[in-house]
Amino acid sequence: GVPVTVAGLGVSGVPAAKALHTLGAQVTVVNSTADERRQAEAAELEALGIAVRLGEDAVTRLPEQTRLVVTAPGWRPDSPLFAAAAEAGAPVWGDVELAWRLRGPNAAPWLAVTGTNGKTTATRMLAEILTAAGLSTAAVGNIGVSLLDVVLGQEHHDVLAVELSSYQLHWAPSIRPHSAAVLNLAPDHLDWHGSMAAYAADKGRVYHGNQVACVYNAADPETERLVREADVEEGCRAIGFTLGAPAPSQFGVVDGILVDRAFVADRQREAQELAETGDVRPGAPHNIANALAAAALARAYGVAPAAVRAGLRAFRPDAHRIAEVAVVDGVTWVDDSKATNTHAAEASLAAYEPIVWLAGGLAKGATFDELAAKAAPRLRAAVLFGADRALIAEALARHAPQVPVVELERTDTGAMSAAVATARDLAREGDTVLLAPACASMDMFANYNQRGDLFAEAVRALAAAAGQGQ
Ligand code: ADP
Repeated sequence: GVPVTVAGLGVSGVPAAKALHTLGAQVTVVNSTADERRQAEAAELEALGIAVRLGEDAVTRLPEQTRLVVTAPGWRPDSPLFAAAAEAGAPVWGDVELAWRLRGPNAAPWLAVTGTNGKTTATRMLAEILTAAGLSTAAVGNIGVSLLDVVLGQEHHDVLAVELSSYQLHWAPSIRPHSAAVLNLAPDHLDWHGSMAAYAADKGRVYHGNQVACVYNAADPETERLVREADVEEGCRAIGFTLGAPAPSQFGVVDGILVDRAFVADRQREAQELAETGDVRPGAPHNIANALAAAALARAYGVAPAAVRAGLRAFRPDAHRIAEVAVVDGVTWVDDSKATNTHAAEASLAAYEPIVWLAGGLAKGATFDELAAKAAPRLRAAVLFGADRALIAEALARHAPQVPVVELERTDTGAMSAAVATARDLAREGDTVLLAPACASMDMFANYNQRGDLFAEAVRALAAAAGQGQ
């Protein structure tokens, strides 16, 4: 009978509203937009007897009597609805917090992964490793699978591989994962969090209450600082990962072998060998780092070395993450549409040379000087599109004045084939044309998937015309 307001429909709001309704809460869902998809979701909930209010007005006023707000993770902390909730003394939880509180007494522990980049990849690697160890598990959370659905579902899991975004962590004050990893920290979503410090603090929440291991990136001192500041269970260890030789209590790489110097069972041995770098695909350095973090979480949970190797070998990267689309006239076309921030774009720009770089979109408050300076020596040319293309063009003019830059003014989805045609004219044999936008996609595309799909489509058309698609 508790009146609960669910803020937002969609992948998080719909399962949250259903779960709360089943538990007997008096649920009202509010959502600012009322397009076809939202109306269909609203109809589905209303058929169950759940109240739904749509429109701008609905999201500024808190429904009367509300005692709890459960929000979709993307809602900004400064939304008027939350100010009203604070005034009414109603706490605001995300759907992850709700899942944590509703999980049963025999609930599966959470192995959590966050970071600016690599979350989905490391979470999938972790799930593969746990599966290879014979454990029943699922990759859940920000990866696109509702934690609430899994936690309240019928299926048994021994342990969960949980991807958490900074937004989700912001709204999940009391979760206590078994162990957690922060892969890296670079400016992203600063317009939402307000500052780098606030963003880092939200990421750092993933370590709170950890029981066995807080896994950090030894090359990223900020992640280690978050471990030091975390309030963990007694006996919980700080475990670093490095692409170099590991110190004690670290995971690292020695002569092409991924090794564990943290959980070594045999006291005679200094390190435990886990896998070869060749077992990890793609084999780019940032991805070896993802594999080490996944291995550290699995080992913290007690998984044997052989399962780490088998799991990494079974892992297949998701689409739009450094995916080679075709080679046409000696030019390699690569889709890294998932590079939605400068830190991710930097990783893929470091993997090729010379590059014709396709970039642009929504900058989300980012600056591009550092990226432009690092990319400069590798660039043949740049083709820029989207709302914030001028920010990248200006940074390139400052740090890479010799690099030709073409700015496309079109903002319809057809702009991607124009960008591909422009890139074809600029590229020479041996070059790589790399879509690594360093920006979010929503100004021109539905999401990064559509952006990558349109790129791949245009490239395949080019290959077909040249009669040499691969
Ligand atoms: P996330 O779930 O955090 O967005 P993904 O695994 O989907 O991460 O990868 C997002 C993008 O970041 C991809 O473009 C990929 O090439 C790049 N990336 C992946 N892992 C890392 C890493 N450890 N450091 C930097 N960039 C990375």
